[in-house]
Amino acid sequence: MDTKIILKENQLPKQWYNIIPDMPGPLAPVINPRTLQPVTPDDLLPIFPMSLIEQEMSPQRWIDIPDKVREIYRLWRPSPMFRARRLEEALGTPAKIYYKYEGVSPAGSHKPNSAIPQAYYNKQAGIKRLATETGAGQWGSSLALACSMFDLECTVYMVKVSCTQKPYRKSMMELWGANVIPSPSNLTESGRSILAKDPDSPGSLGIAISEAVEDAASHSDTNYALGSVLNHVCLHQTVIGLEAKEQMAIAGDYPDVVIACCGGGSNFAGIAFPFLADKAAGRDVRCLAVEPASCPTLTKGVYAFDYGDTAKMAPISMMYTLGHDFMPPGIHAGGLRYHGESALVSQLYHGGQIEAQSFKQNACFEAAVLFSRNEGIVPAPESSHAVRAAIDEALLAKEEGKEKTILFCLSGHGQLDMVAYDNYLSGNLEDYEYPEENIRESLANLPDVDLPE
Ligand SMILES: *Cc1c(COP(=O)(O)O)cnc(C)c1O
Repeated sequence: MDTKIILKENQLPKQWYNIIPDMPGPLAPVINPRTLQPVTPDDLLPIFPMSLIEQEMSPQRWIDIPDKVREIYRLWRPSPMFRARRLEEALGTPAKIYYKYEGVSPAGSHKPNSAIPQAYYNKQAGIKRLATETGAGQWGSSLALACSMFDLECTVYMVKVSCTQKPYRKSMMELWGANVIPSPSNLTESGRSILAKDPDSPGSLGIAISEAVEDAASHSDTNYALGSVLNHVCLHQTVIGLEAKEQMAIAGDYPDVVIACCGGGSNFAGIAFPFLADKAAGRDVRCLAVEPASCPTLTKGVYAFDYGDTAKMAPISMMYTLGHDFMPPGIHAGGLRYHGESALVSQLYHGGQIEAQSFKQNACFEAAVLFSRNEGIVPAPESSHAVRAAIDEALLAKEEGKEKTILFCLSGHGQLDMVAYDNYLSGNLEDYEYPEENIRESLANLPDVDLPE
């Protein structure tokens, strides 16, 4: 049996899988934050191209991947799947552990899977510049890469605390030609109003989103690009799961459980949605989303209408949320520090189709170190949440003396996250559980959406 399960370039999927027509119920409407009425495509046109707006609500199950996008995907896709034999042995588990590795992309994570098509569709629509936000820097660097491939300008509002924690991500974005602005900045109304209240604000993804949306909405040649959460991002990421199904078939196996870390939900959606299609058709497969205890959106949030950003400029959607003014602590898994969640992932969780767990960061780093001492690859701090959950599933199988096939998404590598690993190895990493009373405070500020039946 091979350690790596590799697909040929001509096995790269030709279509993305859109889960919308297979959702167990109708989607909740997305609400315009100004009118508190359902958004229309016209509301979104100032910041998104029509092609992506259509994908956002498409009833079509399969959507063609444009040839130009596949051509760029081929620089690193299909991505490899590994059988983690050495980790299995170290754990002494009867379980089989497979992982799909997305760290082989130029930016080191799954995020270019959506950045490339987003840049492509904006270029097609005649747009000259994309504005976006980034937390840990993976999305900003992915969009910077995509913009450089399609000759677009790129402005990245980077959460201020991450600029200091991840200085090399900034260099990477600049290397690919992007203009990086620490957020909150004084370049936008939203940034200025935050700074007026708190000049030392460390920033948050919500604030940075407000700044990027405002920039895009106020410039006609500029659009906005979001790295997670939205339906079209989840759609693009399904290349992960579609490839993974082919690779599992080559291995002659099928997962009992599919695991991914969950920030906005895109890499989870990417690996899980194609398997959920099998589940809907009667196959027995669990899908498990894993989040940090410091930002426990699914496990401790509420399912309600909330703003996508702090300044209440982004659309309101029905999702699991910790409240749009939730200010997460500066944990190292920066890519998982978002108050909300993909509406699709939220609806599936609410309906009981998927499961969720949360872990504290020391437990995740412990798992990541064990993984890298056996498998070699250094996981991104975000991905370490999936590693933790996969190891726990394998240890449970050992305890119960049961065979089990585990598949997880290793969403990225952590080679630019050595500060985080240094902190862990020197015992300076704090565990932080978001206090219930802070969640209750934020949840008191949810918008009052009252739709006619
Ligand atoms: C951004 C990021 C995540 C979290 O984002 P999702 O949209 O939830 O997938 C996870 N892992 C890595 C490596 C990331 O860069």
